[in-house]
Amino acid sequence: MPGIVVTARTASVRYPLRSTALPKLPAIAIASRKHVLPVQRRQFATLPARRPSPYPVSGNARPFHRPPESPGPFLHDLILVRIASTSAQAGRKNKVFGFLTRCAAFLGSSVLVLGIGVAGFFLYDASTYKEEAELADINVSDLALDPRRGGPKNLPIAEVLIDDNDNEEMEKQQEKPKLVILGGGWGSVALLKHLNLGEYHVTVISPHNYFLFTPMLPSATVGTLEMRSLVEPIRRVLARVRGHFIRAQAEDVDFSSKLIEVSQTDAHGNDSRFYVPYDKLVIAVGSVTNPHGVKGLEYCHFLKDIDDARKIRNSVMHNLELSCLPTTSDEERRRLLSFVVSGGGPTGVEFAAELFDLLNEDLTRRFPKLLRNEISVHIIQSRGHILNTYDEQVSKYAEARFARDQINVLTNSRVSEVQPDRIVFTQKTPGPDGGITAKELPTGFCLWSTGVSQTDFCQRLAAQLGQSQTNKRALETDTHLRLNGTPMGDVYAIGDCATVQNNIANHIVSFLRKLAWKHGKDPEKLQLSFQEWRAVASDVRKRFPQAMGHLRRLDKLFSEYDKDKSGTLDFGELRELLTEIDSKLTSLPATAQRAHQQGQYLGHKFNKLAHASPGLKANDIREGDLDDAIFNTFEYRHLGSLAYVGNSAVFDRGGGWNFSGGLWAVYAWRSVYFAQSVSFRTRFLMMMDWAKRGLFGRGKYSMRPQSPWSCQCLTRVVTSRSYELLRAKAKQGNGEGIS
Ligand SMILES: Cc1cc2nc3c(=O)[nH]c(=O)nc-3n(C[C@H](O)[C@H](O)[C@H](O)COP(=O)(O)OP(=O)(O)OC[C@H]3O[C@@H](n4cnc5c(N)ncnc54)[C@H](O)[C@@H]3O)c2cc1C
Repeated sequence: MPGIVVTARTASVRYPLRSTALPKLPAIAIASRKHVLPVQRRQFATLPARRPSPYPVSGNARPFHRPPESPGPFLHDLILVRIASTSAQAGRKNKVFGFLTRCAAFLGSSVLVLGIGVAGFFLYDASTYKEEAELADINVSDLALDPRRGGPKNLPIAEVLIDDNDNEEMEKQQEKPKLVILGGGWGSVALLKHLNLGEYHVTVISPHNYFLFTPMLPSATVGTLEMRSLVEPIRRVLARVRGHFIRAQAEDVDFSSKLIEVSQTDAHGNDSRFYVPYDKLVIAVGSVTNPHGVKGLEYCHFLKDIDDARKIRNSVMHNLELSCLPTTSDEERRRLLSFVVSGGGPTGVEFAAELFDLLNEDLTRRFPKLLRNEISVHIIQSRGHILNTYDEQVSKYAEARFARDQINVLTNSRVSEVQPDRIVFTQKTPGPDGGITAKELPTGFCLWSTGVSQTDFCQRLAAQLGQSQTNKRALETDTHLRLNGTPMGDVYAIGDCATVQNNIANHIVSFLRKLAWKHGKDPEKLQLSFQEWRAVASDVRKRFPQAMGHLRRLDKLFSEYDKDKSGTLDFGELRELLTEIDSKLTSLPATAQRAHQQGQYLGHKFNKLAHASPGLKANDIREGDLDDAIFNTFEYRHLGSLAYVGNSAVFDRGGGWNFSGGLWAVYAWRSVYFAQSVSFRTRFLMMMDWAKRGLFGRGKYSMRPQSPWSCQCLTRVVTSRSYELLRAKAKQGNGEGIS
């Protein structure tokens, strides 16, 4: 221990664990240890008892001055000198004592800080309660309370909303263009978060009054995360732009009179309908699970909403508890514990992984061991690999991981029917001569997760817009995200419900036709030089940013498609070239990432349009392609795909760049979603849930009675069991039988 440092000229004491300027011992301290003790003895009686602190003090305390009447060393100094000069054991004791003192000080200050924190929290909490009700006269427009009727169906029109006069700012906002957003999901929330305050009169219409953080939904099905940690009230998000919320469902849109028909079940259970007018409409209603025309989906669970997660959690727990009953036969137990996931995409894979975690980490601790041995998890996938939209390396990693965890992956398999207690499917043997085998699996639980399709509302709109909408899966928009077939700049569609049309060939060919006619030429006889081809390519890049990657080597493309080697591209050659590029473009993925980017894009664009509108009005510019004049087309940037595969995670950045790994990748995966979470509140709750899982495990309880069909299953289970028992007795010939 460096308790003392003694030099020939000055002796200085180094106090343990302090590193400030050291007080100097007067000449009394001698260079060699053996001389120290006698000196101490001599000076002992004349020294002051305590050594004042050498550190500067604040407040009323006085700084330390060495008392002039005691020029020699202080008692404390000398005690240290003595301690340092005695045996090593004494030094160690001193070290231990110092350590204990510091621990006690640390503990004391921690308790103090904690105490202050708790007291502060209670003070804050107490301040959030209100004793007195805030009652005051409120201005509400008569039109809001008694809307006028009109529109094609003569329904009430919600021109003024009941909170439009809640404060001065909201009153002012009534003058702004009415922006109505259908849906409160990824696309809508991204748009709301990027919209400037006060530029629009914003209204969100959605049957759900919360935003759901879907990427973490599989974690909520098994209790890794709580459901409330994944949802954010939409009114909270709207507060930033002083927006309005209507909890209802959009049924139809009358594009000519700019009215949205909305429905809601009223307090008496009746269907009530009304119109909401708009100046700008954004359709972001998402999608529904694709049933693929399979029979018996009423016996399946889906995973789209928070209610689905709740039902799944209840069902899993219910099956586990049923399996523990003494009256459950072995066969029945195996069936109840056979969990089937139909669909090997990210949602199905993540659910299977979460389920495995629950069974592996929590079940073994709290449920009878027999259950662990009898549980089986199966994934039925129609393609050759699970996660087939990811790089093959990633898919193989996930498959290997599942094989290790004994999750049964059935590839090249298609479900043909779901029955209450089994799932029927066909499996194709790989290879050119591969046959198709019909198979079935007894199951107590089936999750249907096989891609997405259009909502009824979108199908109605597509039908209404006729020829402009040719895609069966989603509403088509142009690259400015404007819904095809609607008046330009009025209606936009984003997220899962929409797809950006990639008809480069048609677009450019009609553009060239117009150009040719304008110059009095026959388009069919058009000959493009290399320079002209470069100009066309630059226009294609601007209008269709997704085609950028296919228009890199213009010279190569030119020479490749100049079939007659004339040094020019004729109309036919150009059409062939552009059609080839068209065929290489794939639709944008139906992901939160895309919906978010599109919402963000619209937010920025609407802000810019709002800024430009006074100038446009002043110049009386109302017609024309304002979006194109003011903002670039939408360009999707793929940031990569992530998936959780059971205590490990995979990341596919695209272009062959990917990685996968164990727990460190899981933490990276969590960090990404933690950062993307919608608010501080949800981040905080997610963090607490992860900590809670580590400390106490997942919540292993059901929260609501089973859904009616599960009860039917249960009745059926019990009935079939009674049937078996009766038959067994009949076989034994004890007089009882069955008819
Ligand atoms: C379990 C699960 C996990 C997922 N994981 C990922 C992931 O890890 N990464 C990723 O990028 N994507 C993921 N996705 C996909 C992602 O959730 C969707 O692509 C995204 O939600 C699409 O956003 P959206 O705004 O188009 O629609 P949604 O977010 O689905 O929102 C649609 C909104 O419209 C409302 N609505 C529906 N019908 C109407 C109507 N008629 N009128 C008014 N409102 C209506 C709904 O209530 C909802 O509020 C996952 C999806 C699921 C289900």
